[in-house]
Amino acid sequence: MNPILRHHLMELPRKILVGYDVIQELGDFIHDLGFGHKVLIVSGAHVKRMIGENIDELLSSTEVSWCLVDSATMEQVKRVIDIAQNQNVHVLIGLGGGKSVDVAKLSAYKINLPFISVPTSASHDGMSSPFASIKGLDAPYSLVAKPPVGILADITLIANAPKRLLASGCGDLIAKITAVKDWELAKEEMGEYFGKYAANLARLSANLIIEESKKIGEGSRDSVRDVVEALISAGVAACIAGSSRPCSGSEHLFSHALDILAPGVGLHGEKCGMGTIIMAKLYDLGWEEIAASLKDVYAPTNAYELGIDPNAIVDAILFAPRIRPMRYTILHKLKLDRESAIKQATSVGVI
Ligand SMILES: [Zn+2]
Repeated sequence: MNPILRHHLMELPRKILVGYDVIQELGDFIHDLGFGHKVLIVSGAHVKRMIGENIDELLSSTEVSWCLVDSATMEQVKRVIDIAQNQNVHVLIGLGGGKSVDVAKLSAYKINLPFISVPTSASHDGMSSPFASIKGLDAPYSLVAKPPVGILADITLIANAPKRLLASGCGDLIAKITAVKDWELAKEEMGEYFGKYAANLARLSANLIIEESKKIGEGSRDSVRDVVEALISAGVAACIAGSSRPCSGSEHLFSHALDILAPGVGLHGEKCGMGTIIMAKLYDLGWEEIAASLKDVYAPTNAYELGIDPNAIVDAILFAPRIRPMRYTILHKLKLDRESAIKQATSVGVI
């Protein structure tokens, strides 16, 4: 019996601050969480150049060191752990897009330090989830870590990030539609634990993108806030589920397959969004509405827009179920052959 059927642990973020210019509150935010005065900020060179000075001023009463990372790899995690241990820091902060947050999150988890997430873009749900996406490991999917104890999401900063990142975040949210369907399927056919509340919460985040896609595409600041809150909520759904099931299904396996088959092409959420169109077709769900919403937010909906060879899309559909054989999804059920993968991808206009 799957042990998750009997019990699972829910670890949730303790404090979440979302709003315009809330970066100004960072000092109080860290202080109020009460972890001590030695802080290690994990960030990227670009973010440090843009706001590093401001952050140092905001944290002038705190002992701050920086560790700049340029990729989400285990080498970077080891570097962060070394610095954190040598300097006896009390708390780790991931300041930046996905990479910095992922590296800080996994480092904090490995040495049991509290972790605060300060996203500067909304490209995926890693800002709040208990999972970290690290490259170059045997398992090409997210690793289990702990959720951040605190999340500070400054909408002004995030709204200034390139629009492509926000569109990617929308793709990662729309993905919850097929992720939840796969989770339900695993319950029905494999007896897996299925948490209705976490599933509904994740679906709510996806529905928001479908309903608000036009406004998001028009670039209103309030819709940036909606996307950020939906991403936080989706991460919390994973915390409640005690697994990434509500957030990550066959469409994520497809995205991970592309990570391997065509490294460096497309953003995580872009690939997940495209995968959602294909998997929705396999479920006979409304894939047209999903594709239209992705178009509204200017996310890619076909191989050409993603900048990838259509053959790689077909290869990824076929390879995806092998990435996580134990995570039952529609792809494991249908066991598509090449001809049917081509037929399905063509029918939704992805190739
Ligand atoms: Zn994702």
